Amino acid sequence: MIDFNRPAFVGKELDYIKEAVDNKKLCGDGVFTKKCAAWMREHFHSKYVMLTTSCTSALEMAAYLSGIGPGDEVIMPSYTFVSSADAFVLRGAKIVFVDIRPDTMNIDENKIEAAITDKTKAIVPVHYAGVACEMDKIMELAEKYHLKVIEDAAQGVNAFYKGKALGTIGDFGCYSFHETKNYTMGEGGALLFQDDSYLEKAEILREKGTNRSKFFRGQIDKYTWIDYGSSYLPSDMNAAYLYAQLEEHDKIDKKRMDIYKHYEKALKPLKDKGLIDQPCVPKEAVHNAHMYYIKVKDLNVRTNLIRYMKERDMMCVFHYVPLHSSPAGIKYGRFSGEDCYTTKESERLVRLPMYYALTKKDQDRVISCLLSFPGYEGQVV
Ligand SMILES: *Cc1c(COP(=O)(O)O)cnc(C)c1O
Repeated sequence: MIDFNRPAFVGKELDYIKEAVDNKKLCGDGVFTKKCAAWMREHFHSKYVMLTTSCTSALEMAAYLSGIGPGDEVIMPSYTFVSSADAFVLRGAKIVFVDIRPDTMNIDENKIEAAITDKTKAIVPVHYAGVACEMDKIMELAEKYHLKVIEDAAQGVNAFYKGKALGTIGDFGCYSFHETKNYTMGEGGALLFQDDSYLEKAEILREKGTNRSKFFRGQIDKYTWIDYGSSYLPSDMNAAYLYAQLEEHDKIDKKRMDIYKHYEKALKPLKDKGLIDQPCVPKEAVHNAHMYYIKVKDLNVRTNLIRYMKERDMMCVFHYVPLHSSPAGIKYGRFSGEDCYTTKESERLVRLPMYYALTKKDQDRVISCLLSFPGYEGQVV
């Protein structure tokens, strides 16, 4: 059986978890939590990085810190994970979905302006597959209409736009370290921001509404309940697992990029024959090989292809069902303008096995199986 995903394990994870246990500090903000945050601050040139329990919780923090409230509108693509929307629904906001570009599957920056009303408070670009959205245009609109930009960079850790790390361009950036992402801690995430004015509020929010962070730094002699808060601080054991991966990120990056390039080359004959589309990376973007997908002719071909691969023990999977067509999407959101590509393109997309431990031999099996799919066979040059 060739799985679709397996969480990465590079070597020192268990040693570091043991170290965290030996440190006798398993709660948040221990040695490894601090090491992970410092590593990201340095590598991604982000002034502030806070490790969180998930990308969902980082998005919730960003929504709260942006001051989003009941009746406000938030713009995002419909082709995304539910968390992008949930965080704002929790604040009572209305979600306004904008169509995607068919080439990158990212929000179409040229359709955002038409969706802006006097209730709009934020734009949430989602960097699908670790390929950057057109951030210059998005930041320009945000400035013109005084909107916050919250980057859902769950898939975009260690990916770049014009040399800037994804997650560091908008007001807030949200990362995921879920086991399906490039670097993992099982469940986890991070919140990034650059503006000093958010720091104190963010610390209080993450520490259940108390000023305990200040207390631990010795800046005050007792801590108290200051404001609304929640529990968004991960255990140092989880951070220990992540730190082992960040340290060895080169290994993970290289392996994923090799897999990506091998699929790219091996499946090009199918593209040249007009049978599939392959992912597109705009020249401003440096991606992180988070995902390899192809787009087949239509939903029917996709259903048959996924079944064909599964019968041969290879797990290829589809991705998001557009949020605007779901029960909660109908309740909490509306689609701005016409759905030209969101539904059509999402129905064509199939993700192929991609993970650190995937062997070349197994990847070759996936490729030759794809090339033997009825209709695709005999296309090998
Ligand atoms: C994975 C993912 C999330 C959620 O991440 P968690 O860490 O599981 O909360 C949010 N948005 C996108 C685009 C994702 O891919």
